[in-house]
Amino acid sequence: MTADYDRLQKGESMSWEENVRKVVPYVPGEQPKIKNIIKLNTNENPYSPSPFVYKAYEEVDLDDYRKYPDPTCSVLVDSIADFYGVKKENVFVGVGSDDVLAMAFLTFFNSDKPILFPDITYSFYDVWADLYRIPYKQIPLKDDFTIDPEDYKGENGGVVIANPNAPTGVKLPLEAIEEIIKSNRDVVVIVDEAYVDFGAESALPLIDKYDNLLVVRTYSKSRSLAGLRIGYAFGCEKLIKYLLDAKFSFNSYTMNMPSLTLGAAAMRDREYFEKTTAKVVETRERFKVELRALGFEFADSATNFVFARHPERSGKEIFEYLRSNGIIVRRFDKPRISEYLRISIGTDEEMDKLISALKEIV
Ligand code: PMP
Repeated sequence: MTADYDRLQKGESMSWEENVRKVVPYVPGEQPKIKNIIKLNTNENPYSPSPFVYKAYEEVDLDDYRKYPDPTCSVLVDSIADFYGVKKENVFVGVGSDDVLAMAFLTFFNSDKPILFPDITYSFYDVWADLYRIPYKQIPLKDDFTIDPEDYKGENGGVVIANPNAPTGVKLPLEAIEEIIKSNRDVVVIVDEAYVDFGAESALPLIDKYDNLLVVRTYSKSRSLAGLRIGYAFGCEKLIKYLLDAKFSFNSYTMNMPSLTLGAAAMRDREYFEKTTAKVVETRERFKVELRALGFEFADSATNFVFARHPERSGKEIFEYLRSNGIIVRRFDKPRISEYLRISIGTDEEMDKLISALKEIV
């Protein structure tokens, strides 16, 4: 055994480690293998994908998989452009919105000045910034978890805002979003609209007015297809071209064949999309009433989750009690929010079981 191998075995640091790009990774929500649990921890949709997806799946010819997928992703891009009434040159697609956002950070945040985002927001933003060595400044949300657009008007290298925000669920009116975009014309502003279909106003109509705006969306929540991994973004042609240049310098074939065909099929079913999102919203509103009656406190949510705490029970205690009763929610052990639980909206039946369990502990 060499001396180096011996050091490795002992857990000592190796000379090559100095040159490693070290990162503290994002921790995704748990995907437990056990059946019969109520899974309300990763904001998935409780309803099946559209029947159009099932039909397209039946028509899949596995022999096609010998070939590479279409690098331009045209079937998917066209279906998204059709649905939203934009040109295909305004659309970018990726492997979930995580991939789209990661590519957008790489492409647009290339300045020495810090990018800005809230202190409480999607916890991948600081991870990408660290990974790419992008300087950043986290701006505290107000005590009621709202964003003050004034805080985003100083000199910066770019801005990223989730609207509605996660994990708070709080939405920002479109006028406030526009104010932020307008005050930052020399940098790119990313608006992450992962949850917009559940109750906020989209910034999409603003892409024709502001060439520095990128609007990012996902199939994971309102389209019931988290497992396929599809995200997309809208922006002016020039912005999208820059994203494509970065993507094609990284990996030409990000989108696999099933994502292209099944994703396009899902996008064509407007009626099912509207019906299932409306149902999630209806359940959420009923759940809010019941949660409030149990003494929980929460900011009003415009998403498919509620971010709540109880004044007399710790977040950890409730989290563990629910878990031992087969109900999984999400808790972030972080400053300002460790007492909160982020509870995804499931079916009515799942939410009823959750409420019954909560009644036993609070
Ligand atoms: N943005 C926000 C605010 C999210 O909560 C999530 C879900 N974790 C994502 C983006 C990424 O979603 P996906 O990669 O599944 O599209």
